[in-house]
Amino acid sequence: MAATGWVARVTLEVFALEIVRAMELITILNHCHHHRGFVYQHARFGPGKKSMEVDVRPRLGAAAVCSGCHQPAPGYDQLRERRFEFLPFWGFLVFFLYRMRRVHCRNCGIVVEEVPWSDGKHQSTKAHMLFLARWARKLSWKETAESFHTSWDRVCDAVEYVVGFGLEHRTLESIRAIGVDEIQYAKGHKYLTLVYQIDQGRTRLLWVGKERTIESFQGFFTVIGDQLASQIQFVCSDMWQPYLDVIRQKCSQALHILDRFHIVAKMNKALDEVRAAETRKMAGDGHEPLLKKSRWCVLKRKENLTAKQQIRLRYLLRYNLQTVRAYLLKEDFQQFWKYNSPRWAGMFLDFWCQQTMRSRIEPMKKIARTLRAHRALLLNYFKARKEFSSGVVEGLNNKAKVTMRRSYGFRTFRILELALYHSLGKLPEPELTHEFF
Ligand SMILES: [Zn+2]
Repeated sequence: MAATGWVARVTLEVFALEIVRAMELITILNHCHHHRGFVYQHARFGPGKKSMEVDVRPRLGAAAVCSGCHQPAPGYDQLRERRFEFLPFWGFLVFFLYRMRRVHCRNCGIVVEEVPWSDGKHQSTKAHMLFLARWARKLSWKETAESFHTSWDRVCDAVEYVVGFGLEHRTLESIRAIGVDEIQYAKGHKYLTLVYQIDQGRTRLLWVGKERTIESFQGFFTVIGDQLASQIQFVCSDMWQPYLDVIRQKCSQALHILDRFHIVAKMNKALDEVRAAETRKMAGDGHEPLLKKSRWCVLKRKENLTAKQQIRLRYLLRYNLQTVRAYLLKEDFQQFWKYNSPRWAGMFLDFWCQQTMRSRIEPMKKIARTLRAHRALLLNYFKARKEFSSGVVEGLNNKAKVTMRRSYGFRTFRILELALYHSLGKLPEPELTHEFF
């Protein structure tokens, strides 16, 4: 009996030891982050027990791989030990310590080796960069850095790596519809040009350009090439002349549609001008301030007004003010978008412009002149209506603005470009054998 108990206890102890061994850091690493040709040798605490350091060595007899031509090559020498940051673990930062080898390659000469966990240029491992970059899509870069006890630069590096990979590996075939829009990113008329794919079922940011000039927008067509450009069937844009010029030149076969959202925005801006000028004039002439607190009453769509604003609007409409007449013209124009046939829409447009030109309200007359000048493009909206859910570009641009706000403080073109591709480009990501979360 006693002997059986003893055997049982020993068996249990061996079993417990197995569990402990199975949970050793290196065993876990071998399970989730194993690379042929390399071994994890030893794990220990770093200085102050704030981090963990894991030594990495080449496996005995495994040849180094040349980073130039990706072929095995004879060793030349070894460089100083480098630290590669890995995913943090239970409140410890984790680093791999490795001395990169240099190889004497037949094709490339003396070159540093290629290692599978890093691309050599970054201080983080690929796994760590992918981890940070995924969080940087959900949080601001600053918050990501703080949450994972790393620096903003490290997060930026991570996004740069993931975006670089994505741009290199994305496919650009069969783009049917694109939308182009500008976005202001700093004071003093600093704009970006954004090009989106707006096919049904596939929307993504395709391209970010500095400025909103002819040259910058042409850059997009250089990237996709003439072959792809010739297959584009629909282009949606605002009335910015350089865009119109480039579209006519590069996508002559495509149906070019003016973005509805921009036209509504232009009209609201004109109305706002009329209201502000009239308010000033009335105050100057010593009239009672009729237009006070009227801004949203006239700018908002009627169905979105609060009860109080509705009462205010009804009150205003009794007066023959320029603002009121401009408001009625704006509201009247909503009808335009409801037509199905381009012919009827065209007739409505002509009638509206005629009325507006007689209104003697200069900002509204300016709108009418602009609409007349772009009549053909405006009517394309009805020819292509069934192909688009209108507002796709607007929705994407709103997301772009949110992305920009999150990277506030670092509004250089390069950073914004990265952040925008990262959050809106739907880029493919580097693949790992283990899913770190
Ligand atoms: Zn080589």
